[in-house]
Amino acid sequence: MRTITLVNGDGIGPEISDAVIKIIAASGLKINWDIQTAGADVVSEEGTPLPPRVLESIKVNKVALKAPVTTPIGTGFRSVNVQLRKALDLYANVRPCKNLPNIKTKFSDVDIVVVRENTEDLYAGVEHRIDENSAESIKIITRKASERICRYAFEYALKHKRKEVCVVTKANICKLSDGLFLECYRKVAQDFPRIKQREILVDNLCMQLVQDPSQFDVLVLPNLYGDIVSDLTAGLIGGLGVAQGANIGEYCAVFEPVHGSAPDIKGQNKANPTALLLSAVEMLRYIEEYNYADKIEKALYKTLKSGIRTVDVGGDATTEKFRDAIIENL
Ligand code: ATP
Repeated sequence: MRTITLVNGDGIGPEISDAVIKIIAASGLKINWDIQTAGADVVSEEGTPLPPRVLESIKVNKVALKAPVTTPIGTGFRSVNVQLRKALDLYANVRPCKNLPNIKTKFSDVDIVVVRENTEDLYAGVEHRIDENSAESIKIITRKASERICRYAFEYALKHKRKEVCVVTKANICKLSDGLFLECYRKVAQDFPRIKQREILVDNLCMQLVQDPSQFDVLVLPNLYGDIVSDLTAGLIGGLGVAQGANIGEYCAVFEPVHGSAPDIKGQNKANPTALLLSAVEMLRYIEEYNYADKIEKALYKTLKSGIRTVDVGGDATTEKFRDAIIENL
């Protein structure tokens, strides 16, 4: 039996993790979950929101499913998510955004995969206050990280039978940093003649996305633009409750929803487990459990088609009712 780390998170994390574990168990797939707590709730006992045991568990098991974890604000701790990505060198953040049945949005033809560089850019955290009235943040773009993420995007496109990889920059203004990212994209693209190339500036992309998202396929972006654009694309398919994600590295992978711990609805049996469930489905494909992944995805689609939806996407089902309907449809 395969062992997988489960970081069940805080806020709505434990509720949606519980739903997803029960759905996976009901599918017939046996997984030994190595449950690791993290976040605000463990700080008082362990002195950090990300105890070393969590990283150790992921390193050993190679794959993790992660519910949202809150980094306590104002306590001087670095973001748990950023720390995890850095410590495990999870360089690719992959966020597929595709319309789901019965979730009404402005567009019905969205099928975009956002591939975001996860390790550098303005997120490297190199910033300082020059004096009382000025501060400086340094945007770091390297050839190594840029080529690696562009190659990942093209390989993903090949593997998933996608047609185009579009690179998103602001290379007309950030001529050196985004210029280097673009140069790396062009170089890597030469190795993938079957995949169409496209280059777009991030401001134009945003306008095009809200006018006609169907024109986009796979997008590859440096960290900051990727963060912003992937929330935009999450909005195109129904919001955070349905937006899945994955952080992929060379040695391990962590699958997690885009949303945070939603403390405003914690413990109210209202949270939508879809984003975590779809992240888990991608995780099953990553470990090559394709049949179980397809089976769970079909049961989710059938449930949504039957009109059972949680409140955030226009329905009235509780987390538990929605979970049970998916289990029934398995
Ligand atoms: P973070 O900074 O940790 O990413 P955030 O401030 O962006 O968090 P979220 O915790 O993601 O915010 O929540 C934003 C809004 O979306 C909240 O109103 C929350 O209730 C709602 N939301 C987030 N996830 C879900 C979900 N799975 N089901 C239903 N509503 C959700």
